[in-house]
Parts: sequence; C-alpha cells; structure tokens
Amino acid sequence: MQPAVFITRPIFESVLTQIASQCEVKRNREDRTLSREELFAGLAGCQGVLCQLTDRMDREAMEHAPELRVIANIAVGYDNIDVASATERGILVTNTPEVLTETTADFAFALLLAAARRLVEADQFARSGQWKQWKLDMLLGTDAHHGTLGIIGLGRIGRAVARRARGFQMIVLYAGPRRASPEVEQELGARYVPLETLLRESDFVSLHVPLKPETRHLIGAPQLALMKPTAILINTTRGPVVDEAALVEALREGRIQGAGLDVFEREPEIHPGLLVLPNVVLAPHIGSGSRQTRLRMVELAAENLLAALSGQVPPNLVNRGGH
Ligand code: NAP
Repeated sequence: MQPAVFITRPIFESVLTQIASQCEVKRNREDRTLSREELFAGLAGCQGVLCQLTDRMDREAMEHAPELRVIANIAVGYDNIDVASATERGILVTNTPEVLTETTADFAFALLLAAARRLVEADQFARSGQWKQWKLDMLLGTDAHHGTLGIIGLGRIGRAVARRARGFQMIVLYAGPRRASPEVEQELGARYVPLETLLRESDFVSLHVPLKPETRHLIGAPQLALMKPTAILINTTRGPVVDEAALVEALREGRIQGAGLDVFEREPEIHPGLLVLPNVVLAPHIGSGSRQTRLRMVELAAENLLAALSGQVPPNLVNRGGH
C-alpha cells in the first residue's frame, strides 16, 4: 500500500505529480494557511507531511497524526516545527538547505543597497511628480562600498553575504557562538569579534542566525543602543530575532539610520510604527523567492519526503537522532 501524504498548500505541478506517483496524496488546494482544525484533519491517517513555514507543527499537531513518520518542511528554517517532540515520537524532520543560500544572500544585499541608497523613497519621489529639478543634496544615502558589514551568524547564508561584500570592498566582521576556520576567514576576509564590537563598529548589521530560544530578541534595545546612529540593520532571517517595538523606537528617534526587513515578528502583520517610517525598506518574506529557487526548494523537500517514506535516510535530516 502506498503511504499517505498531506500537502498543506499548493505546490508546483511537476513535484505534485512525482509525489502522487508514489503516494496517496491528500492536499489543501487553496493557497492559504490552514486553520489548526483543518491542519489536524489533513494530518489524520498520514505517514508524511509536506509543509511550509506557515504551518505550526507542534506537539498537538503531531498528536493528530499518530502514524506520522516524516515532516518535510519547504524551508531551511524549521522554527515552525517542534523538533524535540518529533524526535521523541520517532518522526523525521527535514529542511531545504543550500538550494536557497545564494538567492537569500542576493536579497539581503538588495535590502542593504536599497536601504543605504534610499531606493524605495527615490522610487516614490520619482513617481509622485515631486522631482522638479536635479539637486546636489537630493535623497542622499550612505555608501555601501568600503563600509563595514557585521554578519551575525556566519553560516551558509551569512557566508554568501560575506562573499558579496568582498565585491563591494567592505570590511567584514562576524559574530557567533563559534569561530570559523582560518581558511574560511581568509576566503571571506572576515574577522571574528564579540557581538558588542560588531554592533559598535558596523555600518551595516545583517542577521543570519536561526530562530531558537537563544536568538529570540537577540537584537533588542540594548543592542540597538550600541549601534552607530548612521548604521543600517538588515533582517532576512526570522522576525522574532529582532525586538520589533525596540527597533521602531530606535528608528523613530534616529538612534540608528535605517533598516531593510524581509521578516517580522507576527507575519503577515507588520508593526504599524514601521509602516510609517520612510527610512525602512519592507518586503513580505520573499528572501528565497526566485522562480528557480522556490522550485528547487519544493523538489528537495519532496526528495526528503519520499526518501524517508521509503525507509532511507533523507538527504536533509534535521533530527539525526530521530531514527
Ligand atoms: P545555517 O547555515 O545553519 O547558519 C546559521 C548560522 O548562525 C550558523 O553559523 C550558526 O552557528 C549561527 N548561530 C547560531 N546561533 C547563533 C547565535 N546565538 N549568535 C550568532 N550566530 C549564531 O543556516 P542558513 O542556511 O544560513 O540559514 C539561516 C537562517 O536564514 C534560517 O534559519 C532561516 O531562518 C533564514 N532564512 C530566511 C529566508 C527568507 O526567505 N527570508 C530564506 C532562507 C533562510 P553554528 O553552526 O555554530 O551553530
């Protein structure tokens, strides 16, 4: 008998066909986040689930799926999944690393440049008919080139951002729980510093840590207070890594200069204070959102799902102790 799989939201047709050739598929055909009850009903009787970061796969959800063997997340971050509960139940958890690294790094850099050079303000200015003449001091921004970039979390995406920074001849600092190897530091031209030093010295601070209890509000009022008044904060990781209310205060009072944000504490809600600030560039969590990469993410998630259901170790197993 084929294993039963629940697909929580529409995915690319080619991948759906592939999964359907090996599994009995139950799926949500509407492109919206399911209510808890709908998620529970979908999971019932399934051995596998292909889910997204909007699906909260906690203990309660797992209790509704006693036969569940694999949770395949279409994302590299898996803070939407209670991994400890999954491991306890022998459920494999998988994610989609690597395939989205360069695309997300591109987007972090896009936000950095857009915030530094006030691109969104400039676009609005040009469209609105306010541009009457060229002026020497019109919409002056900050140079990215030769600036100091502080990367918090020098993992896959953090390193890809550092590689881009080299092209802009930036000074690269990084902070994190572990120092990278001398080879990596040399390749990236990155210097390991304490977080406080990074915050004090950087013109741009870019966040690339996973969301977990230790990184929730990693950037709050005390950290923002250490940053330069001319500094720009970039967040493409997860919203709760930043205390959004503290960020609004810091931006409002000019304690830092600007921000480029792809992620928010209560998505899709955005703090109303951010919406009215001109010195913030906002995006609706599209860091990995290129056509090529989103397809690769879904393909990889399906590969993980099918491998697990056929008794193999999936290529991107998160809870190695699971089975
Ligand atoms: P990764 O390779 O695991 O990198 C994360 C890095 O953060 C690791 O070097 C890790 O160090 C470090 N770290 C962990 N805790 C830290 C702390 N307290 N302080 C400083 N550094 C810490 O993950 P990745 O593939 O680069 O992805 C990073 C995150 O980006 C994901 O978790 C996801 O949330 C987010 N993301 C967002 C989008 C988007 O669309 N906006 C797209 C892709 C990914 P150790 O390895 O030493 O623990």
